[in-house]
Amino acid sequence: MHNHSTCSDGLLSPTQLIELAARTGADGIALTDHDTTAGLEAAAAAARTLGIEWVPGVEISVTWGDTTLHIVGLAIDPTAKAMVEGLQSIRDGRLGRGKRVATVLKGMGIPGALEGALALAPSESMLSRTHFARFLVASGAVKDTQHAFDKYLAKGKPAYVAHEWATLPNAIAWIRASGGVAVLAHPGRYDLKPWGRGELLDEFRRLGGEAIEVVTGSHRPEQYATWRRAAEEYGLLASRGADYHGPGESPFEPGRLPPLPGGLTPVWSKWAH
Ligand code: AMP
Ligand code: MN
Ligand code: MN
Ligand code: MN
Repeated sequence: MHNHSTCSDGLLSPTQLIELAARTGADGIALTDHDTTAGLEAAAAAARTLGIEWVPGVEISVTWGDTTLHIVGLAIDPTAKAMVEGLQSIRDGRLGRGKRVATVLKGMGIPGALEGALALAPSESMLSRTHFARFLVASGAVKDTQHAFDKYLAKGKPAYVAHEWATLPNAIAWIRASGGVAVLAHPGRYDLKPWGRGELLDEFRRLGGEAIEVVTGSHRPEQYATWRRAAEEYGLLASRGADYHGPGESPFEPGRLPPLPGGLTPVWSKWAH
């Protein structure tokens, strides 16, 4: 219920992603590109051809205080006006941020990052830190994309540039207006203050959020139990998704993720029968 394609920062086309999901044994698949629904039509067609259950989705970038959160919308209608206009409004800021990232890298002795990252991105408005990470690998500055984040691009590192994404109320409202279910993506990845976790889960639920990811390629397996308890404690549905970006960049292929721990209600119980 969480995967990327070349329409955002994944390495496989929507069709190739669905083919991989079918090949690795997934019964169902969602495409959830960052801030865009451009790949959903092609992915839906591939899912129909391969007989795999299809869930249209999106992963919305959100600014919550000084933390960037990702909210996945599942079973959305990508033509809903609020969704179309909302996503457009946050995509527009990506090129400006990218220019600032490139300026910092240039100052650190790495020229050509804007052109290099843009050459790897689907468009100026989808320019992502992942494209900068791949440029840094290709230019020999680091050995893999994880090191590019650890050394340059992650929050607190020199080429991190803060950005204002959607608000949490707006992201959840766009998802609900498009008939979808709001899922807090990879909660174990946020660097929250000690009180921040309860505050976030309370606010997320109050705004109409319904699920959290428990088993995700962006959690280490030892984190699953923590977020299983959070799902139970806050009465949230549980989701499971590879957060697949491409060969060599993600720990699990879509169909090869461990199952949800027992006792949780899966988010897909909302639409699968
Ligand atoms: P952006 O939306 O352009 O800021 O890029 C965010 C993307 O960068 C995420 O969706 C991940 O694919 C990747 N990413 C962010 N932080 C990390 C990290 N610490 N390690 C590896 N990948 C990361
Ligand atoms: Mn990504
Ligand atoms: Mn994410
Ligand atoms: Mn993701």
